[in-house]
Amino acid sequence: MHEFTFKNNEFYCENIKVSDIAKKVPTPFYLYSYKTLIDHYKKIKSAFSSIKPLICFSVKSNSSLAVLRALVKNGAGLDIVSGGELYKAKIAGVDPKKVVYAGVGKKRDEIESAIKFGILFFDAESEEELGQIEKAAAKLKKKVNVAIRINPDIIPKTHKYIATGKGESKFGLDFETVHKIFNSRWKYPSLNICGVQMHIGSQILDAAPFTEAIKKVLEFLKEYKIDVEYFNIGGGLGIVYSIENPQTAKSFAKSILPLLKRSGLKIILEPGRFVSGNSGILVTKVLYTKRTPRKTFVIVDSGMSDLIRPSLYEAYHKIVPVSVPRDSSATAEKVDVVGPICESGDFLGKDRYLPYMRPGSLVAVMGAGAYGFTMSSNYNSRPRGSEVMVIRNKFYVVRKGETYKDLVRGETIPKVLK
Ligand SMILES: *Cc1c(COP(=O)(O)O)cnc(C)c1O
Repeated sequence: MHEFTFKNNEFYCENIKVSDIAKKVPTPFYLYSYKTLIDHYKKIKSAFSSIKPLICFSVKSNSSLAVLRALVKNGAGLDIVSGGELYKAKIAGVDPKKVVYAGVGKKRDEIESAIKFGILFFDAESEEELGQIEKAAAKLKKKVNVAIRINPDIIPKTHKYIATGKGESKFGLDFETVHKIFNSRWKYPSLNICGVQMHIGSQILDAAPFTEAIKKVLEFLKEYKIDVEYFNIGGGLGIVYSIENPQTAKSFAKSILPLLKRSGLKIILEPGRFVSGNSGILVTKVLYTKRTPRKTFVIVDSGMSDLIRPSLYEAYHKIVPVSVPRDSSATAEKVDVVGPICESGDFLGKDRYLPYMRPGSLVAVMGAGAYGFTMSSNYNSRPRGSEVMVIRNKFYVVRKGETYKDLVRGETIPKVLK
């Protein structure tokens, strides 16, 4: 469920007409519903309330400071994957003891900043990385918590680019190597290797791959008598983009809670998409409708530079007219909704049925709250649009749209070229 709905043919975010926002904010822009965001966080929180896990929102899914602050204020921790995300997490006022840090390529300065901030633990992904964290911890004279990321080698049935728990993926370590690490904990005197982590992929629609992976990890810990305090089970819960029928937070909890309870470990969850995905949309304007003998294209003012998921993952996002134009012929027409970027792969939706919309009409791309703005770019030298959040009957521009000046910030032309 989300708070983007039609009332009398007008599209609303909570109680505010999207078209009214578009009168004040130039398109394209991302629009977030605070209520939807917090509702989804609370769904997970209440589904797992019997074990009181630490819920660390995955910052890479949506790193808007307003989004992070909203979640942190409601008690969330954060799952970060870079020094930049750490920087944003600090500004959002997160409790350091609610921050976990994953990723295969942490740099030394990023590691040191995280140690200084006092994060709960690192999710380490290789032996060389452990060595690096050990050195940094020794230098800073700190005892540093580390969880080892396990690659449980299961097939999560999702797009190949967002599957991370298969044996050939770059993420995590195989059981044998993890075992070796736990047997040589003495090699890392400054580290407290106190947990295991897994994150098997994203947009996973049912519990089976999770239960399989959790079982594998728990059996592994038991078989080798590995003593840990934390089990971070990652994120990956799928959401509805079109006709999916994903597990709810409740049914997900029901399938895995017995396993988790029996383990007696402190549990950490890292949901991203589940919390932020349906709490954001991309609002864009129709520029032209172009009819060719083969196809009709609705050309809008945003594209793969704003929302790359369709181009990158062939992801489906529902596209709806923000106000159904009065002069539209009632019959919808099959169209491709495409952006202005000079790439054939630049589309937001293919073979969609939409009524004719004259230039200037607004459309909303649904389910754009996760991996939307965070994956945007300036390709084709297009400034990024604003991010806007509706909070209790008011809307706030939480990130100003970029200007042409922003496009050249930091650039210089060497004197020899003048
Ligand atoms: C991306 C990521 C997540 C969040 O994934 P979702 O599918 O958005 O829930 C969680 N943990 C780690 C380590 C990640 O890299």
